[in-house]
Amino acid sequence: MEQSYVVHYSEVALKGKNRPEFARALARNVSRALYGLDASVRQGDSRIFVQTGADEGEVLRRLSKVFGVSWLAKASSVPPELPAMSTEVLSQARSLSGSTFRITARRSDKSFAMTSKEVEESLGAEVVAATGKSVSLSRPDANVHVDLLKGRALVYSSRVQGPGGLPVGTAGRVIHLFSGGIDSPVAAWLLMKRGCRPVYLHFFAAPYPGAPLDGKVGKIVRILSQSGGRCTLLLVPFAEYQLATLGTVTGSLEPSLFRRFMRMSAELLAPAFGASALSTGDSLSQAASQTIWNLRTFDDGCTLPVLRPLLTYDKEEIVDLAKSIGTYDASLEEYKDCCSIVSSHPKTRAKGGDVSELASRLGFAELARKSFSQGTLVGYDPSRGKTKVAPLGEVLRRAALEPSARGGVSTQEKAHESLEPF
Ligand code: ATP
Ligand code: MG
Repeated sequence: MEQSYVVHYSEVALKGKNRPEFARALARNVSRALYGLDASVRQGDSRIFVQTGADEGEVLRRLSKVFGVSWLAKASSVPPELPAMSTEVLSQARSLSGSTFRITARRSDKSFAMTSKEVEESLGAEVVAATGKSVSLSRPDANVHVDLLKGRALVYSSRVQGPGGLPVGTAGRVIHLFSGGIDSPVAAWLLMKRGCRPVYLHFFAAPYPGAPLDGKVGKIVRILSQSGGRCTLLLVPFAEYQLATLGTVTGSLEPSLFRRFMRMSAELLAPAFGASALSTGDSLSQAASQTIWNLRTFDDGCTLPVLRPLLTYDKEEIVDLAKSIGTYDASLEEYKDCCSIVSSHPKTRAKGGDVSELASRLGFAELARKSFSQGTLVGYDPSRGKTKVAPLGEVLRRAALEPSARGGVSTQEKAHESLEPF
C-alpha cells in the first residue's frame, strides 16, 4: 500500500534568499537516497513529501541519514475538515501504547476556521472519550500531530530524527585526505554535515589499489556514502615518493615531508575536481605531526584553505562520533598504509623552510603527477550499489585536465562533473 512521508528541514539553516536552492538540493538528495524504491518526491509548504509503497523501515532508515533532514514521519493525508481529521487521529491514537497522549496542531494555513488550540481541544476530547486515555501536555506517552496545510491536513504520531545540517553538495567540494584511521572518516562526515562534498584522496603502499579498495578504505567510504550519497575516491600509490626520498631524508623530518607531499598532491588535484579547499582529520597536538608548528609546515605555501573539522576534538569525542556514524569498527581493521611514515618520531617543530627546500629539490610536483598516472579513480553510487573504477591518469588526460596542463582553471572547474563516473 502507498504510504506518505513528510520530511522537515531546518528552518533556521535554510532561511534567506538561498532557501529555494537548498530545498531543491535536499529534495534531490532525498530522491537519490530512495533510489530503487519507486518513490515520488515533491517539495511544497516548506516540506518535502514522499509517496511510496516501499518497506517503511527501509524508507525511514535511508531518509534519517540524509543531511539537511531535521526530522521525518510517516503521515496520513486527509481533507482539512474536522470529521476526516478526527477519524484519522482516532485510528492512530488507538494503536499507540501508553495511557497518556496529547494532540499537537499546527496551522500553516491560517484561513482554517479554528485556532490550533481549538483543534487540539476538540480532537483531544474525542480521543479521551473513545480510548479512555488521559491528556498530558508536558510528558505524554504519545503525541499525535495534526498539520493543517492548504487543501489538506497531515496526521502523524511518530517522528524520526534526521541528522540535521545542510544538504550535501550545497557547500562546494573539498579534496579530503583520507586515511584508514578513525579520525579522517569522522572529519569527512562532519564536512558532509555542513554541505561539503568530499573527494576522498587516499595514499597507499601496496602496488595494487585492490588492497585499499577491497579492504577497510573501500568499506569506510561505502559506510560514509549512506549519509553523503555518491562519491569519488582517488587511490594514489606513494611508491614514487618512497623511491625519491630513499636515503635522502632524515627520520625526524620525514613525517612533515610526507604530509607536505600529500598536501601538494591534493592541491594539484583540486582544480580538476572543482574543489575549493582541502581537508584533513587532524586534531591539534593529537600526534607530534599535528602540533601547531607542524600544521603550519603542512599549510605553508598552500593556495587553498585547509579545513580541519576535528581540530579541537579530543580523541574520545572522535571515537564516540565514529561509533555513532558506524565507521569505528572498520577503522580498527588491520591495514598497512603509510601510518609508519606519518607517525615515526617526528620533530614537533619541523622547519617550514627545510620542508619547502626539500620538496622543491626532490621535485614533489612532478612526483605527484607521476603518482597520479599510477592512481585509480573509484566512483561509488550507494543507491545503485555500483562501483566504477578507472585509471586516474587516463581520466585526467582524457578530459585534458591533467594537473600538469593547468591553465584554464575555470574550464576545469566546469568540467569536473565529467570526471566523475556518476
Ligand atoms: P588515526 O589518528 O585514528 O589513525 P587519522 O585519519 O587521523 O586516523 P593520522 O595518522 O592521525 O590518521 O593522520 C592525520 C591526517 O593525515 C589524517 O586525518 C588524514 O587527513 C591524513 N592522512 C594520513 N594518512 C593518510 C593517507 N594514507 N592518505 C591520505 N591522507 C592521510
Ligand atoms: Mg589522527
